[in-house]
Amino acid sequence: MPVKISRVSLVALLGAAAAAAALLTAPSPLRTPASAGIVRIPATEPAAQSPAPPATAPTSAPSGTARPGGGPDLPGATPIGSLPPVVDHGPRTGNKVALTFDADMTEAMRHQLRSGAVRSYANLKIIERLERERVPATFFLTGMWVEQYPALTRRLAANPRFELANHTYGHLAFTPDCYGLPRIADRKMTADVARTFDLVAEYGGRQTRYFRFPGLCHDRQALEALAPLGLTVVDGDVVSGDPFAKSWRPVVRAALDGVRPGSVIILHVTEANAPMTDEALPHILAGLAERGLEPAPLSEVLGQG
Ligand SMILES: [Zn+2]
Repeated sequence: MPVKISRVSLVALLGAAAAAAALLTAPSPLRTPASAGIVRIPATEPAAQSPAPPATAPTSAPSGTARPGGGPDLPGATPIGSLPPVVDHGPRTGNKVALTFDADMTEAMRHQLRSGAVRSYANLKIIERLERERVPATFFLTGMWVEQYPALTRRLAANPRFELANHTYGHLAFTPDCYGLPRIADRKMTADVARTFDLVAEYGGRQTRYFRFPGLCHDRQALEALAPLGLTVVDGDVVSGDPFAKSWRPVVRAALDGVRPGSVIILHVTEANAPMTDEALPHILAGLAERGLEPAPLSEVLGQG
């Protein structure tokens, strides 16, 4: 059915263009007051403040405070019910920077895979290089990407230098106008992100409570929707613009131009949608080394490791 095919292709194209536009722009202007730069997360470890209940006590975990995908001791965990802080970067001291790789997957992308139009949205060359050169990195995974690539997700989780974070289930927009990305219903926001934490948690490894919105698009309503989950929103301060890059050079330039101690660099591990990232990566790593900067897991860069 040509009509259907062309419609799907258009949707995929629109989604692709939207994703490209989203990552080429500066981080969203909307910020919580606490979001300017580094946000210090208050310690939220009630267990450390009060003695553990005796083993014979009935289990009486307060209802309604369950945190999907992990406990209050994970990096990025914030008090349940509080408005999530939004972080762009860590302290501008020291020499650590975070390489963060988004693993996008939308319905349109999944269709491209299933129809054979696209070979892969998982860039193995990136992962192999990080493994081989023992480079720490943090992966913001969509739930659909995890479902598409379970073996690869296991491999990421098994690496002690890799942290795992949350990038929604299906990369839908959480604000009314997010570069044309299809929008999630307000009432589904909380469950979408909770479900993704649960999916990722099954793989173990270095779990976190870090979350990144698709296109970095968020507003007060979106942040309020995530308050029950006790997480930290991570935007980033260095946008590499790697989606749909035609050459590795601009990606390297963008990644290195604004990089400073504490920077959070946004890259993609999606191959077909970011085909130059693996070629750019060695140059980015060399450029960081020239500047005396050292990649570290996100939690360490944010001072929460
Ligand atoms: Zn994304």
